[in-house]
Amino acid sequence: MSDPREEIVKYGKMMYDRKLNTGASGNISARTEKGTMFITPSGSCKGLLEADQMVEISIADGKVIGTGRPSMETPFHLAFYRNRPDVMAVVHSHPMFCTVCACGNIKVRPNLTPEGLLVLGKDVPMVSYATPGSEDLAALVQGSMASANAFLLEKHGAITLGKDLAEAYFRMETLEYMAELQYHIESDQHGIVHNKFRSLQPAEVERILKGK
Ligand SMILES: [Zn+2]
Repeated sequence: MSDPREEIVKYGKMMYDRKLNTGASGNISARTEKGTMFITPSGSCKGLLEADQMVEISIADGKVIGTGRPSMETPFHLAFYRNRPDVMAVVHSHPMFCTVCACGNIKVRPNLTPEGLLVLGKDVPMVSYATPGSEDLAALVQGSMASANAFLLEKHGAITLGKDLAEAYFRMETLEYMAELQYHIESDQHGIVHNKFRSLQPAEVERILKGK
């Protein structure tokens, strides 16, 4: 098995390069065979991680092993590993279209395409809002984690799970793709694109062009 810390560095960079995260947002963890998890450090840019920055935490008691300040979202990562033995990796981020849906309390519909359904399953639960990093958020996540592998957090972002980090990461890419697809479809149906995102008025276009 490859070093989980190196895997986190690799997928963290992919996540950042694909703009699934911005600044220091999001966090990534991976379970080890020793009953611990490695998680990204608090306040770190996921595009600039180094393996020795990862913080190791005992899953049973939540204590840090060694040094480092773990991600503020450590409580819900621990909740997944404690309650879902099949979960080996957890990815959390705030991708643009997932967050648009999360802000509007609009559930992502994985059954719009076969790929969405196969990768994400039949349901992507919407976890009700709670303060980021809080035990309340971890408890709400725990309440809906039984059968799903992808979640939206109301007014916040998204979480995906996997049997390894590759699977958790690719689920996040697919979740964001499905959220964007849905955004375009529903915007069109409701006339939002045409009514709200108007081009410049013809007179303004003329004014600007004349000013050249
Ligand atoms: Zn977050």
